[in-house]
Amino acid sequence: MLVLYVKNRQLVELSHALTLNVLSETFAELQKRKKIAKMESHERAAALGDGVLDFSRLGLNTLSIDSITDRRKRDTKQLYLSYNRLASLPSSVTLFFNLEFLDISNNGLSFICEDIMRLTKLKTLIAKNNRLDEFSLPKEFGSLQLEVLNFSGNRFEEIPLQCTKLLRLQSLSLGGNRLKSIPAEIENLTSLEMLYLGGNLISAIPPEVANLPYLTYLVLCDNRIQSVPPQLTRLHSLRSLSLHNNLLTYLPREILSLVHLQELSLRGNPLVVRFVKEMTYDPPSLLELAGRTIKSRNLLYSPFDLPANLVRYLDLASKCPNPKCAGVYFDSCVRQIKFVDFCGKYRLPLMHYLCSPECTSPCSSNPQSDAESEEENSVPADRLQRVLLG
Ligand SMILES: [Zn+2]
Repeated sequence: MLVLYVKNRQLVELSHALTLNVLSETFAELQKRKKIAKMESHERAAALGDGVLDFSRLGLNTLSIDSITDRRKRDTKQLYLSYNRLASLPSSVTLFFNLEFLDISNNGLSFICEDIMRLTKLKTLIAKNNRLDEFSLPKEFGSLQLEVLNFSGNRFEEIPLQCTKLLRLQSLSLGGNRLKSIPAEIENLTSLEMLYLGGNLISAIPPEVANLPYLTYLVLCDNRIQSVPPQLTRLHSLRSLSLHNNLLTYLPREILSLVHLQELSLRGNPLVVRFVKEMTYDPPSLLELAGRTIKSRNLLYSPFDLPANLVRYLDLASKCPNPKCAGVYFDSCVRQIKFVDFCGKYRLPLMHYLCSPECTSPCSSNPQSDAESEEENSVPADRLQRVLLG
């Protein structure tokens, strides 16, 4: 079973590592890179082997590559420029015309120049922790052949439309920005497997997200999301759904059909407890009360006793789902959250309708209760909390 962990930054790191297939970069290797960083840049290039140039952590304001041979420029496929002081993407980068991977994170970068369009083989662009916003990208950015794009930790207030034109994109990270919404055009990214939007100001999930057939990891934690659209159940590839630290009060029942889900995080949402407290209930009409009595006491009636409209009304009774209740309701009911087992792995809070507020009380007395409702009604609040956090 795959476990992805929920701390914002760690997941960014892990996912990008997964996509780049460098998960094997162990602590020892990281130490080695740190050591190498102290060496002269051209030595470093040699030390890291063919195809990789590492100019990170050199305090560079500009990128001067005069000392690099033409062959080296041609052979370089990965370029690291992170932790420098580059305010915009140096145009000399385009001299590495076979570049497939570029990391320009942690630079204070506020602008990506049009020259990047000449990097026609670029598949991975990592530009985390800069000052980029939706005005920083060239107009044609969407025609790059990118598969992995990481703009986490920048200043985007919306997802640039150019990004929704990157049809080969498999991984898009925009965590820790200022995004308020997700554009409907997200559905164009039909190759997307990983969408990381944690740590923004997003208030709603558009149903178009459900049109991403390969989406496997959807991270929307630390936002302001109030509900989950039932359409998300069309995400048949979804393995991990992070929704912790949002404003969710319940989940749609349809979520039960996401049978491939391996991880779901919900902690830090006002799910059940608050919802039940704020529950409102319109008292039933006299007609409803009379109907409830007839149905719940099994009083016999026939079209000979009652007008046809009343017979029809009585036939529309819904059975109260609380097994301790045995009652019915018509139009007046109480919305309540009920925990339901999900593939034996989670207990999910789902929306239910009950006949009256008393139905939620733990002291209703029907000895014929089944195990599920026993658990539902006798679980102390702190244990519910643990279920949600667990
Ligand atoms: Zn009831």
